[in-house]
Amino acid sequence: MTMQYELLAHRILERAAAQFPGKQIITRVGDGVHRYTYADLFRRTARLGNALRALGIGRGDRVGTFAWNTYRHLEAYFAPPTIGAVVHTINTRLAPDDMAYIINHAGDQVLLIDPDLAPAIAAIAHRLDTVRQYVILGEPSEVPDSLPGAVSYESLLAAASPEYNPAHVSEYDIMGLCYTSATTGLPKGVAYSHRAIYLHSLTSAAVDVLAMSERDRVMPVVPMFHANCWGLPYTATLVGADQIFPGARPGPPEICALIQSEAVTFTAGVPTIWIGVLDYLQRSGVEYDLSSLRQIISGGSALPLAVLQAYRERLGVEMVHAYGMTEAAPLISVNRRRTWLDSLSDSARLDLCATQGVIAPGIDMKLVDENGSAAPWDGIQRGELWFRGPWVADEYVNDERSAETFVDGWYHSGDIASIDANGYIQIVDRVKDMVKSGGEWISSVDLESAIMAHPDVLEAAVIAIPHPQWQERPLACVVPRADGAAPLTKDGIMEFITPRFARWWLPDDVVFIDEIPKTSVGKFDKKALRDRFANLGSRA
Ligand code: ADP
Repeated sequence: MTMQYELLAHRILERAAAQFPGKQIITRVGDGVHRYTYADLFRRTARLGNALRALGIGRGDRVGTFAWNTYRHLEAYFAPPTIGAVVHTINTRLAPDDMAYIINHAGDQVLLIDPDLAPAIAAIAHRLDTVRQYVILGEPSEVPDSLPGAVSYESLLAAASPEYNPAHVSEYDIMGLCYTSATTGLPKGVAYSHRAIYLHSLTSAAVDVLAMSERDRVMPVVPMFHANCWGLPYTATLVGADQIFPGARPGPPEICALIQSEAVTFTAGVPTIWIGVLDYLQRSGVEYDLSSLRQIISGGSALPLAVLQAYRERLGVEMVHAYGMTEAAPLISVNRRRTWLDSLSDSARLDLCATQGVIAPGIDMKLVDENGSAAPWDGIQRGELWFRGPWVADEYVNDERSAETFVDGWYHSGDIASIDANGYIQIVDRVKDMVKSGGEWISSVDLESAIMAHPDVLEAAVIAIPHPQWQERPLACVVPRADGAAPLTKDGIMEFITPRFARWWLPDDVVFIDEIPKTSVGKFDKKALRDRFANLGSRA
């Protein structure tokens, strides 16, 4: 037998402090940057753990974070788990009702809040039942009056014992908590064990997965509240990569400037971020040196092929498509080319890049058709994807909805996909976003991707609208590029996509709008679009 070695999240940080004490953690603060090292991170995390203990936080207690991507947030990723408590990363963009719901539902006792985000918490403070202490992530001068009894994070740390004294916990204890962003219904909570995060980090780092190394300079643009920040802060700490945090409200200019000034090699975010960056670069004409970038991980929703191509051809930057979800901590699959596909033609390779790739080691997958049978892996037949694995949840926290989603040891993702003979996943749609026309399914994702390949289109979302005869028909909502060559027309869009689809797939109508509404994690908000255009359907 081998040793019984507990896989604990704080062992990741202990290793970093011992192995790479001098590597850097850099955070954009105002017009400048804050820099410190893993040694500093370790010391301050020990203090934060003790400060939380002094506030009465112990095993299993919840500590909420309401913050941007910063070094202090990174400290909060590690300190609660170190003392046996749980870090709950709260989505700062949720509606107030959902925010109050998740804080109460999680039972957060302490909230760590960035100063400029304090008003959002102050507005719901009277509805929070379990919070005993607000801590403002800053100096005493940054503590607002609006939050009664709030204290400064820096004062707490200064007063805390510097001793590193981790709690005795089991690898199956909960160390993290994250809620889905509630595009429909109330948010659902997912709890992560120490073991899940440790194994997720080890696997993510692997060359055929996220391929992250000590040589990387990693900048997560994905918010630290979105699906565990895709595990990047833990993985980067495990491998000893330098980490660059973009701070408050990073927009395309800040993202580009940081890539250049900090020689970022590895960054990650949802496609809408990368569409925005590309548009900014084209319109502003500002030149940045992005040559340090080795890869951009794009995940969270389908990566349009046209975006991947534009990054490759115009900027010389490789985008890698990844797929996952809050319920899987979140990594499921990454697009890496198998050796036996090296001989594919250029265009077949490109098509392959747009798929969601191949499952990470450790994940088991099933493709299940409407009758509950296994669908063949032929790249054509569709089914729902089911997963299980060491970092996949087996329930939602205290939630009756668990039984619909977690069945007989499998997580039913609600994602419809095909899988080809080589194991490459192609997501067709979320079940709730598919368009059901005359009993047949139309993929909104395929239509969107084709429309976004039009050079004068900035963004496109396709939604189902009710139809008296066909039940539902697709409607394309299109945002023209501000600097487009010619005014976009419905006919122009239809002509562009007609060769690619069967006639009955083509949208019944195209509406031009200024902006596609986004969810709190930056995805196209199709529910908002369906609400907005519901009347269009009833007139059909
Ligand atoms: P939320 O549910 O709040 O949007 P998640 O990020 O957890 O947050 O959502 C996970 C879902 O996002 C997946 O089940 C899938 O539908 C979608 N998704 C994630 N990555 C991709 C991708 N690369 N391509 C297509 N869809 C994706």
